[in-house]
Amino acid sequence: MQNMKQWIDRAEADLLHTYNRYQIVFDRGEGMYLYDIEGKKYLDFVAGIAVFALGYANKEYNAAIKDQVDKILHTSNYYYNIPAIEAARALKAYSGMDRVFFCNSGAEAVEGAIKAARKYAWLKDGRTDHEIIAMNKSFHGRTMGALSVTGNPHYREAFEPGIGNIRFADYNDLDSVKACINEHTCAIIMETVQGEGGLTPATEEFLRGVRALCDEKGILLILDEIQCGMGRTGYPFAWQKYGVRPDIMTCAKALGCGVPIGAFLLTEEVAQHSLTSGDHGTTYGGNPLACRAAAKVLEIFVRDDIAGHVRQVAPYLEKKLDEIKAGHSCIIERRGAGLMQGLVFDRPVGPIIDRALEKGLVLINAGAEIIRFVPPLVLEKQHIDAMAEILDSCID
Ligand SMILES: *Cc1c(COP(=O)(O)O)cnc(C)c1O
Repeated sequence: MQNMKQWIDRAEADLLHTYNRYQIVFDRGEGMYLYDIEGKKYLDFVAGIAVFALGYANKEYNAAIKDQVDKILHTSNYYYNIPAIEAARALKAYSGMDRVFFCNSGAEAVEGAIKAARKYAWLKDGRTDHEIIAMNKSFHGRTMGALSVTGNPHYREAFEPGIGNIRFADYNDLDSVKACINEHTCAIIMETVQGEGGLTPATEEFLRGVRALCDEKGILLILDEIQCGMGRTGYPFAWQKYGVRPDIMTCAKALGCGVPIGAFLLTEEVAQHSLTSGDHGTTYGGNPLACRAAAKVLEIFVRDDIAGHVRQVAPYLEKKLDEIKAGHSCIIERRGAGLMQGLVFDRPVGPIIDRALEKGLVLINAGAEIIRFVPPLVLEKQHIDAMAEILDSCID
């Protein structure tokens, strides 16, 4: 039997080094807890980065996947399959959008959203010089299109040129968006709550203002709900709190709760005037396994009112984080929405996260100086208490 160190050495010898990983090999999970291969137990406030909303080893979810494994994993999008049909209906009902395209990841959902927006604009005027406005500090994924609208120059620099015709505005600054709009603008893309970029929710004034600008100028609004969607902020999708509706929306992460799946959703108006036969496709997207998982996730989300549970427990998390902030002058701010929270420090948070891991608490950063809290949505007050106690002891 190899120990953890030996597995890690092997990983570093064989895998392309694109991640600075923590020195842990996880083996299994149960509810709010993870176990490494040496049997150490951890309380998890990361959920695989906002993925495992239902916690680990959910029996009902696992049973659905196992059942599907024995039926069929993959056919092809040249044929219909019932899990995809059911998942689409459930996702429409949960989001209030009209049409669904299933893909395999968040970045792919963003790619599809960009293509739909460009096609919509092209059908209107036949031009190929349309522009998209994206936000500084945004994160939309690592593929070339998604990277091109990601507002962190460090992620893009070595890979330029991107897809081109992108302008960056400042998040929560309506005037800076206005300054980017011209006759070529076809879409505005943004996260409803910025995740990677620092757990910043859109202000109501900003999101409603952007929606009004889009309506006035015939520009499509694309909201990226990959991290903040699926109940995380206490609403099925974060934009629902603002009384606006996007023209295109992206979804992934918690949609599969561990099985890779993404989706972009459109209004009927955009669906009828954008992508059509032959314009877009994927081999694995919408496959029976991933869609069975998503259909079960959505069934449980609705039946158990997961978003309602988030609205119930999130204020307690906020309260505990505010208490920790009050006790440590190195913490500048708490911000976020629902169970998507950040503590902003005046120094790098790496050493704090390392100490927390040693004490059996899994946390993750967002940028160098922010600790991000995106736990499974099924957490209870007792988990928040346990987390707060460990975290408090890890800050100097
Ligand atoms: C994670 C994330 C993505 C990318 O999703 P992948 O599945 O990693 O490709 C895109 N947008 C947001 C807001 C995200 O949090």
